Amino acid sequence: MQRILLVVVVLLIIWRILASIGRRLSEKAPGADSFSRFSPEARRRRQQARGEARTMEELVECIACGTFVPAGRSLTDGDSRAFAAKTAVIRCACRQSMGETDPRTQLIAVGERLAAAGLVRESEGNISIRLGDSGCVVTSTGSDLGRLDSSDLIEVVIEATTIPFGASSEVQLHLELYRLRPDVGAIVHAHPPRLLQLDAEGKLPIWRRLEDRGKMLGSVVAVPYHAEGTLALAQATAGALRSTKACVLQKHGAVTVGPSLMSAFVRMLDLERAAGLTGKRS
Ligand SMILES: [Zn+2]
Repeated sequence: MQRILLVVVVLLIIWRILASIGRRLSEKAPGADSFSRFSPEARRRRQQARGEARTMEELVECIACGTFVPAGRSLTDGDSRAFAAKTAVIRCACRQSMGETDPRTQLIAVGERLAAAGLVRESEGNISIRLGDSGCVVTSTGSDLGRLDSSDLIEVVIEATTIPFGASSEVQLHLELYRLRPDVGAIVHAHPPRLLQLDAEGKLPIWRRLEDRGKMLGSVVAVPYHAEGTLALAQATAGALRSTKACVLQKHGAVTVGPSLMSAFVRMLDLERAAGLTGKRS
Protein backbone atom coordinates (compact mmCIF):
# COMPACT_ATOMS: atom_id res chain seq x y z
CA MET A 1 0.00 0.00 0.00
CA GLN A 2 2.76 2.38 1.02
CA ARG A 3 4.63 1.61 -2.18
CA ILE A 4 1.59 2.42 -4.31
CA LEU A 5 1.18 5.71 -2.48
CA LEU A 6 4.85 6.52 -3.00
CA VAL A 7 4.58 5.78 -6.74
CA VAL A 8 1.49 8.00 -7.02
CA VAL A 9 3.24 10.88 -5.23
CA VAL A 10 6.35 10.55 -7.43
CA LEU A 11 4.19 10.48 -10.59
CA LEU A 12 2.32 13.59 -9.41
CA ILE A 13 5.58 15.46 -8.82
CA ILE A 14 6.91 14.49 -12.28
CA TRP A 15 3.64 15.59 -13.88
CA ARG A 16 3.81 18.99 -12.13
CA ILE A 17 7.42 19.53 -13.25
CA LEU A 18 6.63 18.61 -16.88
CA ALA A 19 3.57 20.90 -16.89
CA SER A 20 5.58 23.86 -15.60
CA ILE A 21 8.35 23.26 -18.19
CA GLY A 22 5.67 23.14 -20.91
CA ARG A 23 4.20 26.41 -19.68
CA ARG A 24 7.56 28.15 -19.69
CA LEU A 25 8.42 26.91 -23.17
CA SER A 26 5.15 28.11 -24.66
CA GLU A 27 5.63 31.50 -22.97
CA LYS A 28 9.04 31.90 -24.57
CA ALA A 29 8.10 30.66 -28.03
CA PRO A 30 8.64 33.50 -30.51
CA GLY A 31 5.47 34.65 -32.18
CA ALA A 32 3.41 32.58 -29.79
CA ASP A 33 0.14 33.79 -31.10
CA SER A 34 -2.44 31.07 -31.22
CA PHE A 35 -5.25 30.56 -28.79
CA SER A 36 -3.96 27.15 -27.81
CA ARG A 37 -1.10 28.85 -25.98
CA PHE A 38 -3.39 30.62 -23.53
CA SER A 39 -4.14 29.08 -20.18
CA PRO A 40 -7.50 27.25 -20.05
CA GLU A 41 -8.79 29.86 -17.59
CA ALA A 42 -7.82 32.82 -19.80
CA ARG A 43 -9.34 31.05 -22.79
CA ARG A 44 -12.57 30.34 -20.95
CA ARG A 45 -12.94 33.98 -19.86
CA ARG A 46 -12.15 35.21 -23.35
CA GLN A 47 -14.70 32.86 -24.88
CA GLN A 48 -17.28 34.06 -22.37
CA ALA A 49 -16.57 37.69 -23.23
CA ARG A 50 -16.84 36.96 -26.93
CA GLY A 51 -20.12 35.11 -26.73
CA GLU A 52 -20.56 33.12 -29.88
CA ALA A 53 -17.48 34.56 -31.60
CA ARG A 54 -15.34 31.47 -31.50
CA THR A 55 -12.18 32.39 -33.35
CA MET A 56 -10.05 35.49 -33.66
CA GLU A 57 -11.08 35.71 -37.33
CA GLU A 58 -14.53 36.68 -36.16
CA LEU A 59 -13.17 39.57 -34.12
CA VAL A 60 -12.35 43.01 -35.51
CA GLU A 61 -10.42 45.88 -34.05
CA CYS A 62 -12.16 49.00 -32.80
CA ILE A 63 -10.87 51.91 -34.85
CA ALA A 64 -10.89 54.15 -31.81
CA CYS A 65 -9.27 52.19 -29.00
CA GLY A 66 -7.87 49.03 -30.58
CA THR A 67 -10.03 46.64 -28.56
CA PHE A 68 -11.08 43.47 -30.36
CA VAL A 69 -14.83 43.04 -30.53
CA PRO A 70 -16.98 40.45 -32.30
CA ALA A 71 -17.86 41.35 -35.88
CA GLY A 72 -21.30 41.37 -37.36
CA ARG A 73 -23.51 41.62 -34.29
CA SER A 74 -24.55 44.04 -31.63
CA LEU A 75 -23.72 43.62 -27.99
CA THR A 76 -25.31 45.49 -25.19
CA ASP A 77 -24.17 43.73 -22.04
CA GLY A 78 -21.74 45.61 -19.83
CA ASP A 79 -18.99 43.01 -19.94
CA SER A 80 -18.56 42.88 -23.69
CA ARG A 81 -18.85 46.66 -23.98
CA ALA A 82 -19.23 46.45 -27.69
CA PHE A 83 -21.38 47.00 -30.65
CA ALA A 84 -20.29 46.01 -34.09
CA ALA A 85 -21.28 46.96 -37.58
CA LYS A 86 -21.75 44.30 -40.23
CA THR A 87 -18.20 44.30 -41.53
CA ALA A 88 -14.71 45.38 -40.67
CA VAL A 89 -14.71 48.99 -39.51
CA ILE A 90 -16.32 49.13 -36.14
CA ARG A 91 -16.19 50.96 -32.87
CA CYS A 92 -16.66 49.45 -29.49
CA ALA A 93 -18.45 51.19 -26.68
CA CYS A 94 -15.26 52.92 -25.59
CA ARG A 95 -16.96 56.03 -26.98
CA GLN A 96 -13.60 57.41 -28.01
CA SER A 97 -14.13 59.98 -30.69
CA MET A 98 -10.53 59.77 -31.84
CA GLY A 99 -11.20 57.88 -35.06
CA GLU A 100 -13.30 60.76 -36.32
CA THR A 101 -11.53 63.92 -35.24
CA ASP A 102 -9.14 65.77 -37.51
CA PRO A 103 -5.82 63.86 -37.91
CA ARG A 104 -3.77 66.83 -36.70
CA THR A 105 -5.90 67.19 -33.58
CA GLN A 106 -5.43 63.46 -32.93
CA LEU A 107 -1.64 63.77 -33.25
CA ILE A 108 -1.52 66.67 -30.78
CA ALA A 109 -3.75 64.83 -28.28
CA VAL A 110 -1.87 61.51 -28.50
CA GLY A 111 1.51 63.30 -28.31
CA GLU A 112 0.37 64.85 -25.03
CA ARG A 113 -0.77 61.48 -23.69
CA LEU A 114 2.51 59.77 -24.67
CA ALA A 115 4.47 62.42 -22.77
CA ALA A 116 2.07 62.29 -19.79
CA ALA A 117 2.51 58.50 -19.64
CA GLY A 118 6.30 58.95 -19.57
CA LEU A 119 6.81 57.08 -22.84
CA VAL A 120 8.66 59.99 -24.45
CA ARG A 121 10.64 62.88 -23.00
CA GLU A 122 11.36 66.21 -24.65
CA SER A 123 12.27 65.62 -28.29
CA GLU A 124 12.09 61.82 -28.14
CA GLY A 125 9.83 59.73 -30.36
CA ASN A 126 7.65 60.50 -33.34
CA ILE A 127 4.11 59.70 -34.43
CA SER A 128 2.20 59.77 -37.68
CA ILE A 129 -1.22 59.19 -39.15
CA ARG A 130 -2.25 58.19 -42.68
CA LEU A 131 -3.94 60.95 -44.65
CA GLY A 132 -6.16 60.07 -47.61
CA ASP A 133 -4.92 57.59 -50.23
CA SER A 134 -1.35 58.67 -50.67
CA GLY A 135 -0.12 60.76 -47.77
CA CYS A 136 0.56 60.91 -44.08
CA VAL A 137 1.18 63.55 -41.43
CA VAL A 138 4.29 63.04 -39.31
CA THR A 139 5.78 65.03 -36.45
CA SER A 140 8.73 67.26 -37.24
CA THR A 141 12.32 66.60 -36.25
CA GLY A 142 13.11 67.66 -32.70
CA SER A 143 9.49 68.41 -31.82
CA ASP A 144 8.35 67.89 -28.23
CA LEU A 145 5.49 65.38 -28.51
CA GLY A 146 4.01 66.65 -25.25
CA ARG A 147 3.60 70.17 -26.65
CA LEU A 148 2.86 69.80 -30.33
CA ASP A 149 1.16 72.48 -32.36
CA SER A 150 0.17 72.47 -36.02
CA SER A 151 3.56 73.89 -37.10
CA ASP A 152 5.18 70.64 -35.83
CA LEU A 153 3.10 68.47 -38.18
CA ILE A 154 4.48 67.83 -41.65
CA GLU A 155 2.54 66.35 -44.54
CA VAL A 156 4.50 63.79 -46.55
CA VAL A 157 3.65 61.82 -49.71
CA ILE A 158 4.03 58.11 -48.86
CA GLU A 159 5.79 57.27 -52.13
CA ALA A 160 8.09 60.31 -51.81
CA THR A 161 11.69 59.66 -52.77
CA THR A 162 13.00 62.84 -51.17
CA ILE A 163 12.20 63.63 -47.57
CA PRO A 164 10.59 67.02 -46.96
CA PHE A 165 12.64 69.44 -44.93
CA GLY A 166 11.86 69.37 -41.22
CA ALA A 167 10.16 65.96 -41.05
CA SER A 168 11.14 63.58 -38.24
CA SER A 169 14.52 61.88 -38.61
CA GLU A 170 12.62 58.57 -38.54
CA VAL A 171 10.22 59.57 -41.33
CA GLN A 172 11.59 56.81 -43.56
CA LEU A 173 10.50 54.24 -41.00
CA HIS A 174 6.95 55.60 -41.13
CA LEU A 175 6.91 55.67 -44.95
CA GLU A 176 8.27 52.12 -45.29
CA LEU A 177 5.56 50.87 -42.94
CA TYR A 178 2.74 52.66 -44.76
CA ARG A 179 3.99 51.27 -48.08
CA LEU A 180 4.22 47.72 -46.77
CA ARG A 181 1.05 47.66 -44.67
CA PRO A 182 -2.03 49.21 -46.31
CA ASP A 183 -4.00 48.26 -43.17
CA VAL A 184 -1.85 50.49 -40.95
CA GLY A 185 -3.52 53.83 -40.28
CA ALA A 186 -1.08 55.23 -37.72
CA ILE A 187 2.36 54.67 -36.22
CA VAL A 188 3.77 55.44 -32.76
CA HIS A 189 7.49 55.42 -32.00
CA ALA A 190 8.43 55.96 -28.35
CA HIS A 191 11.16 55.23 -25.80
CA PRO A 192 9.25 53.46 -22.99
CA PRO A 193 11.56 53.29 -19.93
CA ARG A 194 10.66 49.83 -18.59
CA LEU A 195 10.92 48.36 -22.07
CA LEU A 196 14.35 49.95 -22.53
CA GLN A 197 15.43 48.46 -19.20
CA LEU A 198 14.22 45.01 -20.27
CA ASP A 199 15.96 45.39 -23.64
CA ALA A 200 19.21 46.26 -21.85
CA GLU A 201 18.86 42.93 -20.03
CA GLY A 202 18.48 41.21 -23.40
CA LYS A 203 14.81 40.32 -22.92
CA LEU A 204 11.59 40.93 -24.83
CA PRO A 205 8.27 41.76 -23.17
CA ILE A 206 6.13 38.63 -22.82
CA TRP A 207 2.75 39.71 -24.15
CA ARG A 208 0.97 36.78 -22.50
CA ARG A 209 1.57 38.43 -19.15
CA LEU A 210 -1.18 40.89 -20.03
CA GLU A 211 -3.78 38.10 -20.22
CA ASP A 212 -6.76 39.38 -22.22
CA ARG A 213 -5.09 42.57 -23.42
CA GLY A 214 -2.10 40.53 -24.54
CA LYS A 215 -4.06 39.26 -27.51
CA MET A 216 -4.63 42.83 -28.66
CA LEU A 217 -0.95 43.58 -28.35
CA GLY A 218 -0.03 40.38 -30.17
CA SER A 219 3.44 38.96 -30.50
CA VAL A 220 6.37 41.31 -29.99
CA VAL A 221 9.40 41.06 -32.27
CA ALA A 222 12.91 42.46 -31.91
CA VAL A 223 14.61 44.60 -34.56
CA PRO A 224 18.43 44.30 -34.42
CA TYR A 225 20.30 47.53 -33.77
CA HIS A 226 20.73 50.00 -36.65
CA ALA A 227 21.68 53.66 -36.28
CA GLU A 228 18.76 56.04 -35.76
CA GLY A 229 17.25 57.64 -38.83
CA THR A 230 18.83 55.23 -41.31
CA LEU A 231 17.14 53.46 -44.19
CA ALA A 232 18.50 50.19 -42.76
CA LEU A 233 16.53 50.77 -39.54
CA ALA A 234 13.41 51.76 -41.53
CA GLN A 235 13.55 48.61 -43.66
CA ALA A 236 14.36 46.28 -40.77
CA THR A 237 11.44 47.70 -38.77
CA ALA A 238 8.97 47.43 -41.66
CA GLY A 239 10.13 43.86 -42.24
CA ALA A 240 9.71 42.95 -38.58
CA LEU A 241 6.20 44.43 -38.49
CA ARG A 242 5.09 42.62 -41.64
CA SER A 243 2.67 40.50 -39.64
CA THR A 244 2.72 41.92 -36.09
CA LYS A 245 1.80 45.21 -34.50
CA ALA A 246 4.56 45.89 -31.99
CA CYS A 247 8.34 45.68 -32.12
CA VAL A 248 11.31 46.56 -29.96
CA LEU A 249 14.15 48.47 -31.65
CA GLN A 250 17.16 47.15 -29.82
CA LYS A 251 19.04 49.79 -27.79
CA HIS A 252 16.55 52.40 -28.93
CA GLY A 253 12.80 52.05 -28.18
CA ALA A 254 9.66 50.63 -29.68
CA VAL A 255 7.27 50.98 -32.62
CA THR A 256 3.58 50.10 -32.59
CA VAL A 257 1.02 50.32 -35.39
CA GLY A 258 -2.76 50.17 -35.60
CA PRO A 259 -5.71 50.99 -37.79
CA SER A 260 -6.05 54.25 -35.84
CA LEU A 261 -3.70 56.49 -33.88
CA MET A 262 -5.52 55.65 -30.66
CA SER A 263 -5.08 51.92 -31.19
CA ALA A 264 -1.35 52.33 -31.92
CA PHE A 265 -1.06 54.46 -28.77
CA VAL A 266 -2.97 51.96 -26.58
CA ARG A 267 -0.71 49.23 -27.97
CA MET A 268 2.36 51.21 -26.88
CA LEU A 269 0.89 51.54 -23.36
CA ASP A 270 0.24 47.78 -23.31
CA LEU A 271 3.76 47.06 -24.54
CA GLU A 272 5.22 49.08 -21.67
CA ARG A 273 2.90 47.35 -19.19
CA ALA A 274 3.95 43.95 -20.55
CA ALA A 275 7.60 45.02 -20.18
CA GLY A 276 6.96 45.99 -16.55
CA LEU A 277 5.29 42.65 -15.76
CA THR A 278 7.96 40.65 -17.61
CA GLY A 279 10.74 42.44 -15.71
CA LYS A 280 9.05 41.86 -12.38
CA ARG A 281 8.45 38.12 -12.73
CA SER A 282 11.44 36.92 -14.70
ZN1 LIG B 1 13.62 56.94 -31.16
